[in-house]
Amino acid sequence: MTDSPGSYLPTFEGALSEGLDVPSERPLEQQRLAMLVVHAAVVRRSSWSEEVVRPTSGIPHGEPPVPEDFEVRHHVRIANELGKVPCQFCERGSRPCRVCGGTGKLGARACSCEGGRIRCPSCEGAGRGSRLMLRYYTDTPASMCEAYMPSQVGFVKSLFRLESTMETDIGFMREMPEVLRCHDLTGRVGGSAYRGGVKLVRPEFHGHEFGDAIEKAIAGLAAFGTGAVRYDIRAYAWPFLWLHYHEADYAVYRTRTGELRAYGGSAL
Ligand SMILES: [Zn+2]
Ligand SMILES: [Zn+2]
Repeated sequence: MTDSPGSYLPTFEGALSEGLDVPSERPLEQQRLAMLVVHAAVVRRSSWSEEVVRPTSGIPHGEPPVPEDFEVRHHVRIANELGKVPCQFCERGSRPCRVCGGTGKLGARACSCEGGRIRCPSCEGAGRGSRLMLRYYTDTPASMCEAYMPSQVGFVKSLFRLESTMETDIGFMREMPEVLRCHDLTGRVGGSAYRGGVKLVRPEFHGHEFGDAIEKAIAGLAAFGTGAVRYDIRAYAWPFLWLHYHEADYAVYRTRTGELRAYGGSAL
């Protein structure tokens, strides 16, 4: 397989010269279409809150940073400071030592505490703590691989199973060839020439159209990306040629191993 997009673009002439089992007369109609393959990785963030009394030292405020990788991470942040209260675990910053039972002695020896008391670990000896609303965050990575077929081929009897067949033939779960990458799924073009204008164009891949596969992919990504704070989304085209004859239909495309394949046949 070469690494030029051209090698993935099937033609009727190519199908004949590579000896595929398609009629040699010209088809009534040819449509250049493409399957849309989406590989996406996200980090989803979930959180919950709890009110606690703590010394504030060491707990940062604000949202945790956007993760730089796709790993599981936990964060705790102060969401709100609700004022100072007496520490509920001590008296004025110290509490009885559990080792010596508050006596300061272990038999004939002195306990390592301070005369039967220890500095309160909850308030770190301050005797007061801050009532805090803490928020706990969990960042969880997730990934998806999906292939989307233009719906119009789903209505063609000979091509009913094209989607699953092509998915297998192109190995859409595997790393995709970089030459098939589509960098702009939405087809948005900045409209600097028009006041506030954004022109929507149908994205295509070297003349091959995605049909409604784009809308399906965007809907799938919207659901998958809910709650995500980091995204890595890659979209790829896998072009195919739909040959429509009087009583037969074929889809011609390159497989992952580089052979040209014709799928379909007579609908009778
Ligand atoms: Zn002690
Ligand atoms: Zn305390």
